[in-house]
Amino acid sequence: MSALVAEELERLHQLIAWSFPPGLSPESVAGEACVWCDVPCDDTAVDLSTLGPLRACATCYAGQLVWLVSWYDWNGHVDACTPCQQGRVCHVGRGRRVLHLLTTGLARKQPPLCTGCQGPLHDDEPALPFVWTGQSSEHLGYGHTRCLLRRATSR
Ligand SMILES: [Zn+2]
Ligand SMILES: [Zn+2]
Ligand SMILES: [Zn+2]
Repeated sequence: MSALVAEELERLHQLIAWSFPPGLSPESVAGEACVWCDVPCDDTAVDLSTLGPLRACATCYAGQLVWLVSWYDWNGHVDACTPCQQGRVCHVGRGRRVLHLLTTGLARKQPPLCTGCQGPLHDDEPALPFVWTGQSSEHLGYGHTRCLLRRATSR
């Protein structure tokens, strides 16, 4: 487990600040309710942005954080693991994937979809973390190993 230094927390905070869901309520836009769960903000709410008053409740913020940290843990393993990259059996990779996907609900994310084929990631299908760059920021996602391998070889 790597230490979360201030710099790392700041980077994660930036990612969280830009990942709030679409369709905010008027209360959320005004910073009076959490952007994720719409619960009225209290003293423990976290300021998300210097551009507006958006805030998250402590529970939702922690959910986002654990989602990101577990995604990076999984991704860090895959980066250094040949069996994972080739879609072969790897219990460490499997464990990190399971741990990460357990946080989907905490982070109020949709069930994971493959970036390549847009299909769901079934438990018995090899899958990898995958990052794609959008208009303004990076998006952390997933892909079936077979879809990502096809992508890599057709480049
Ligand atoms: Zn909340
Ligand atoms: Zn592995
Ligand atoms: Zn796929």
